[in-house]
Amino acid sequence: MTPTILKGACHCGAITFEVETPLEPAVRCNCSLCRRRGAVMSPPFPAARLRILSGESELASYQFNTHVAKHFFCKRCGIYTFHQTRTNPDDWRVNLGCVEGVDAYALEAPVADGASSSVVTRA
Ligand SMILES: [Zn+2]
Repeated sequence: MTPTILKGACHCGAITFEVETPLEPAVRCNCSLCRRRGAVMSPPFPAARLRILSGESELASYQFNTHVAKHFFCKRCGIYTFHQTRTNPDDWRVNLGCVEGVDAYALEAPVADGASSSVVTRA
């Protein structure tokens, strides 16, 4: 699928962004973090394809386990917007539930087995 420029936002709208990514293969993950947040995530894309349009000061990040991946979320509404992956710091994924015009639940999104390695692989 060819990448297209998509617009996204957190729930309260403080954080808005544009991202150039295909939608598939989308993925979910069963690691300790992902199974709690339950998001359908985009395929990985390079950092340069993500532009934060507003709300950078409202972004907080959470790190756990190896402390390599950075999981960003909105300080106001708590919604996970995107993250920098552990396996390749230049790979990012967005929460497709934040993206305008995308029905994340309509996408084929297999569950990656992040739990069995205790750290998340490419997520
Ligand atoms: Zn928000």
